[in-house]
Amino acid sequence: MRSRKKIEDDLSHSLLQWYDREKRDLPWRRTKDPWLILLSEIILQQTQVSRGRLYWERISKRFPTVGSMATTDIEELLLLWQGAGYYSRARRLHELAIIVSRKKADGGFDGEIPSDYEELVKLPGIGPYTAAAVASIAFQKPIPVVDGNVNRVASRFMADPSPPPKATRSWAGSLLDPSRPGDSNQALMELGALVCRPRNPQCVHCPLVAGCLGREDAESFPLRKKNKKKVEKFDALVLIDENGLPFLSKRQKNVRFGGLWGPPMGDIDTSSMDKVGEISHHLSHRELQVTVWRGACSKGIDPESVPISNLDRRILEMAMTS
Ligand code: SF4
Repeated sequence: MRSRKKIEDDLSHSLLQWYDREKRDLPWRRTKDPWLILLSEIILQQTQVSRGRLYWERISKRFPTVGSMATTDIEELLLLWQGAGYYSRARRLHELAIIVSRKKADGGFDGEIPSDYEELVKLPGIGPYTAAAVASIAFQKPIPVVDGNVNRVASRFMADPSPPPKATRSWAGSLLDPSRPGDSNQALMELGALVCRPRNPQCVHCPLVAGCLGREDAESFPLRKKNKKKVEKFDALVLIDENGLPFLSKRQKNVRFGGLWGPPMGDIDTSSMDKVGEISHHLSHRELQVTVWRGACSKGIDPESVPISNLDRRILEMAMTS
């Protein structure tokens, strides 16, 4: 009879073989540069791979080193980030670049991304997932990574509808090949994205099928949480000058779409304005319902010259074309 260790080693080996054969060719998988790997992890936190790739290419071309981002104005990064959403990621990434670029004597890292999980997790915008991903992929540290894909595969493999986080981490750790921890982690996430998909998992092509307890009824795992979106309602006021340009201002850092530009938003006196229409905008945990109003101003600015969120673009388009 095979020992548990031997079974885990065999599964880990099958997983890596599958990954070597089937992995997607993504540009950040062709580099060993910790900065560029970290950049990919930040972008992919809330952006799909196909779109994330475009943003990674654009941003890494402009900021090929951590120092090049540290010395630029945040507004330039926000312009490149436009459309990717969750702009706080860009602001924190910029803060991270500044901290990492500082001299060690001043609390920085002399321009080198730290390799240690404990140091990574203290940096702005880096949570346990990203710290583990960067430490393992860029520095070959044997730390298991758990994201939504790994959670789903673990739940099905163990036939546990809601495995405790510790059990999932331990299971992911049991599949980690100590000689290739970064690839093992990426293989498990890739398996969740390509084979053990939320719907219609492809168990016949799965390298873990031999040990999977949930394969007969895979789609019943994990337990689905009802995710009722919170609805927020507010007004947006687009003031347009005689040349057809809108009044825009830069938002404070600590408000919605902070650091980006946009028309006045929130609880606004619209008593003498024209109502233009309503927009419903979906974010991952919230639904924004915006009533759009229009008025006149003495001087607007070109919306193409400043960073603007997707929602603000929709608001401007509605007010300026209807
Ligand atoms: S055998 Fe099926 S359910 Fe089990 S891990 Fe593989 S794809 Fe997922």
